Amino acid sequence: MVERTHAPVSRSRRADPECPDCGEGRVRRVGAFEHVRCGFVDVVAAFGADGPAVVCPKCDATLAPADEDLRCVGFLYDCSSCDHRFDAPVSFASRVPRAAESD
Ligand SMILES: [Zn+2]
Ligand SMILES: [Zn+2]
Repeated sequence: MVERTHAPVSRSRRADPECPDCGEGRVRRVGAFEHVRCGFVDVVAAFGADGPAVVCPKCDATLAPADEDLRCVGFLYDCSSCDHRFDAPVSFASRVPRAAESD
């Protein structure tokens, strides 16, 4: 599961988000993917790799990157300094997926 923290977001909007944990700016935006069939959602790094394909850690299904069962549902920020993952600081916060999203 993705660990969610609720650090107060007090800074104004900026192009390069800082990590709420360590304050470093070495943060990159990573896509969060959902395996539609079983409902597993996490960043792509959480899925196992099988060559060019990924493996769902929840149900062990092997999914091609372009598989329609694998869809991008939002974005998270990943700090390369301390390995902390957090929701987008400002503009994307309301778009980060919760447990389930009905079509
Ligand atoms: Zn950090
Ligand atoms: Zn799955």
